[in-house]
Amino acid sequence: MRWGMENPFVVQVARLRRAPGTRWHEVRRGPVDPDGVISPRSPADSSVPDGAEVTADVVLESFLGGVMVTGTVSAPWQGLCRRCAVPVGGELDVPVRERFTEPGAAYGDPEDDEAYPIVDDALDLAPMVRDAIVLELPLAPLCREDCRGLCPECGADRNTDACDCVAPRDPRWANLDVLRSGR
Ligand SMILES: [Zn+2]
Ligand SMILES: [Zn+2]
Repeated sequence: MRWGMENPFVVQVARLRRAPGTRWHEVRRGPVDPDGVISPRSPADSSVPDGAEVTADVVLESFLGGVMVTGTVSAPWQGLCRRCAVPVGGELDVPVRERFTEPGAAYGDPEDDEAYPIVDDALDLAPMVRDAIVLELPLAPLCREDCRGLCPECGADRNTDACDCVAPRDPRWANLDVLRSGR
């Protein structure tokens, strides 16, 4: 899925930057990953559903040399319970506070590689939004805290099915079993 005519996360900031200290509230929404930059590496990985709408609700404040962006990034996410593999999902709300600066500007700090770029008096919130989401996607989601998972012997979902499999033998107890059986 690709953006249409324009990237909804690009903000023109020439007017904002005319007077340092000026603040704006911006709410931008759209699919944030039309090129699949943060698509999951494996089907088991948590991800933002393809084409899902992501929201950046932020305040932009200009300072000499750049713009500070503070607010919240919200996105739906989906994944699989790591124990029983049922689909799980929810909504991420990620706080953000990031600087955007003009690369190479006289007042800019050339070592400031943690800032996002301002190019031609515009900044693109999408890379910041993607970075915030990638850091917060649950690595090992559970359908519920006490999910009992799948039986390693027969694959039954222990949350709903009671199977008759004996718990897998712990090798540390193997000797005891031998003693018990008298062999
Ligand atoms: Zn589960
Ligand atoms: Zn079983």
